[in-house]
Amino acid sequence: MHTSRSLTLARLPSGVPVRTTVHAYGEGELVDGDDGPELDAPGDVPVVYAQAAQHGREVNGTAVLRRLHDRLVGDATEAGDGAESGDEAGPTAAELAGTLVTVPVADPLTFDHVSYTTPESLDSRQPNMNRCWPGDREGSLHERMAARLWAFAGEADAIVDLHTGSPSMATHTVYMRGDDDCRGLAEAFGTDLLLAEAAGDDADTEWDERGFAGKLRVAATREGIPTITPELAHSREIVPEAVETGVRGMLGALRQRGLLSGDPDPWDGVVARNHLGRVIADEAGLFVPEPDLAVGDRVAEGERVGEVFDPTTFETLQVARADRDGIAYSVAREATVTAGATLVGVAERIDRE
Ligand SMILES: [Zn+2]
Repeated sequence: MHTSRSLTLARLPSGVPVRTTVHAYGEGELVDGDDGPELDAPGDVPVVYAQAAQHGREVNGTAVLRRLHDRLVGDATEAGDGAESGDEAGPTAAELAGTLVTVPVADPLTFDHVSYTTPESLDSRQPNMNRCWPGDREGSLHERMAARLWAFAGEADAIVDLHTGSPSMATHTVYMRGDDDCRGLAEAFGTDLLLAEAAGDDADTEWDERGFAGKLRVAATREGIPTITPELAHSREIVPEAVETGVRGMLGALRQRGLLSGDPDPWDGVVARNHLGRVIADEAGLFVPEPDLAVGDRVAEGERVGEVFDPTTFETLQVARADRDGIAYSVAREATVTAGATLVGVAERIDRE
């Protein structure tokens, strides 16, 4: 069974409502309640919640949910996003032992702006929607939007919050370090690189300063709901490989949570710490990464990762070197850098814990 409903998330100063669409597949259905749509699902079967594009320029997650929709409702129409190998007959919504709830565009405002955050005129308190979960029904615009979606997410047994990075960032999945349920869900999603993010007392000051406690993943994990944040490659453009990775990941997550039969593919990747090593530009100039350095590569401490040069004199200002052993999870592609900019992000490998 598939049902969908228009959901009003908040209203703009002009009175125009901010709306999005919520979908339910499987054993539960969306019904009209007093306060808008709500999920009516049997209490004894699992619910998985997935959303995309709370950072609106991160459009591949939306494409993933569309492709998944096509497979679940058995519609064989060509979606046109080029994810060819995903076209074999897949599971249908009728086969789901549980309920999948999806929101393809969690933040329509940033989606319309093709942006990461909203302008201050819309939300002076929190321009980044992914810093205010679980939201507040009487709070700022983003807090209200988050609270409206939390009515669905907060009732789920597992959450996948689809994001995308950029061509300069390796595809990976973030989960809360030390949480076995989140780790299991991350392995089921199946990206080669998993980043374990510390939280609370184990986190660094940057974590607090940047408001990471308000991420959907963190807020939900703290409520006991296993949650992961896949970061698929590329914002702004639909990339077939990223869509394929995301669809495969969603099917793996649905298997792991028991909505689909069978086990997820065994995972054999690398785990590293999130938010740790950064090779910083000492001087402004033009950055040229080492020609053979690609995101996802292993690097050793002291290894040359590129150089910053003066564009007028051609003088080398800095030979940039990895500050630790690890995985190059980001490599700056935009050559013009300012002092203090991140040239290469290095995630430190950690062993199973
Ligand atoms: Zn994002």
